[in-house]
Amino acid sequence: MKKTKMKTSKPSKAPKADKKPAPAPADLNVAVSGKPKKTYALIRGMHDILPKDEKYWKALYHAAEKLAEHFQYGRIDTPILEEVGLFIRSVGRGTDIVDKEMYVFEDRDGSKVALRPEPTASIMRAYIQHGIWNMPQPFKVWTWAPMFRHDRPQAGRYRQFHQVDFETIGAKDPAVDAELILVAYNFFQDLGLPVEIHINSLGTPEDRERYIAELVTYYRSKRSYLCEDCRQRITKNPLRLLDCKEPQCQPVKEAAPQLIDWLEESSKSFFMKVLEYLDELSIPYILSPYLVRGLDYYTHTVFEVYTVVPEMPPKEGSAQAPPSAQSALGGGGRYDLLAEDLGGKPAPAAGFGIGIERAVLALKHYAETNKVKVPSPAPHIFFAELGDDAKRRALRLINQLRGTGIRLAFNFLKGSLKNQLELANNLKVPYVVILGQKEVQDETIILRDMESGVQEIIDQKKLEATLKKKLASAFETESVSAVV
Ligand code: AMP
Repeated sequence: MKKTKMKTSKPSKAPKADKKPAPAPADLNVAVSGKPKKTYALIRGMHDILPKDEKYWKALYHAAEKLAEHFQYGRIDTPILEEVGLFIRSVGRGTDIVDKEMYVFEDRDGSKVALRPEPTASIMRAYIQHGIWNMPQPFKVWTWAPMFRHDRPQAGRYRQFHQVDFETIGAKDPAVDAELILVAYNFFQDLGLPVEIHINSLGTPEDRERYIAELVTYYRSKRSYLCEDCRQRITKNPLRLLDCKEPQCQPVKEAAPQLIDWLEESSKSFFMKVLEYLDELSIPYILSPYLVRGLDYYTHTVFEVYTVVPEMPPKEGSAQAPPSAQSALGGGGRYDLLAEDLGGKPAPAAGFGIGIERAVLALKHYAETNKVKVPSPAPHIFFAELGDDAKRRALRLINQLRGTGIRLAFNFLKGSLKNQLELANNLKVPYVVILGQKEVQDETIILRDMESGVQEIIDQKKLEATLKKKLASAFETESVSAVV
């Protein structure tokens, strides 16, 4: 191996960089006829996930996958489209999801279908349909999938968004609720994002009925102080009164009767046991007497996950504000009666869902403000080439390095070596390999250390081994990286 110190390599017959700027492309928006062509944009509430965010999405997915593996949740994937009745039955009329937000349409055969607004109903449908209740219980599953709600778009709120979801069906035990809360908590712990759990109990439907009667009497007496939505909720969905965020309703809410005082002894004892588990696990939680979750199917434990990052004003120039600390990153609870409500055999169950977009925003914000590095799939090597022969050989060598763990960047359209090195510099790769006409003929390749500028000429056959040796320390750091 010959070591030389060169400024930049001089691969032979290097084509000159394009001096003249390329002619401006014809206006793509003008059709041949001269009429402007229509351009397309996202539908309101939809969003693209671009490669710049890949590292966050990957980190979140890996965190979920690792937890699922460790706590033994099997993967389930259900279709996006379901019979609309499934969601009306489970989520319930009177909820925002069913009344205002569901994407419902008539299929070509005339049947009414809906784009799934949440995953639990579909998973329970699958549990019943495949006779899973006949198999050893509990049935522990997780999924990662897009959901659809025709919500009012804002930061962290979209009409198509993703959720990671964990469910345990076929078991009623405080340990199950605690395990799920632990998984939700660990998900954020593993990402380095501090969160806390807000928790409450809705008790049994009987407990709730007695409480709702009390709540309705109380709210009727305060009707004149309430917002329009709340006035309707008194008859339509009284529990949702406790969800109201309107400032004018807050004093009424704060003095409202609390559900916990209306629970039967057995419901209280179940809840206390869940809390004892959380104490044992040192999971930070806050008792939230007004946390009811919006959906009809919950019984007993309900919880939500909130970031404990202090609210920061959005960074100047940043397109998106961080999600408000008011909005939960995720939530879930127990739903013991859903299996029966959907025509199945009794099967107590619990689960939770975390909104990925919201978690990505929180993670980004936290990483930015706390200077935490989220590991990214940054390239180790830039592959530069000069000339058509070199380009052909380069693609072959790049292909040969597949499966080695070495991440390569290259751009065959950059032209001059200077441009390519500039790009390599911007990518902050530690090494560049350079292949010119001479190297193609000699079966060699130049390896440049970007920090020292030292270049060495190596045999193409030894490229993989040499790169692996050079990158050994980079590989080591990656494998012990704290964040997934
Ligand atoms: P929910 O079951 O409605 O509490 O939703 C669970 C989680 O999904 C929430 O805590 C959010 O993180 C996320 N989520 C719900 N609705 C939306 C939405 N419209 N856009 C983005 N994320 C959402």
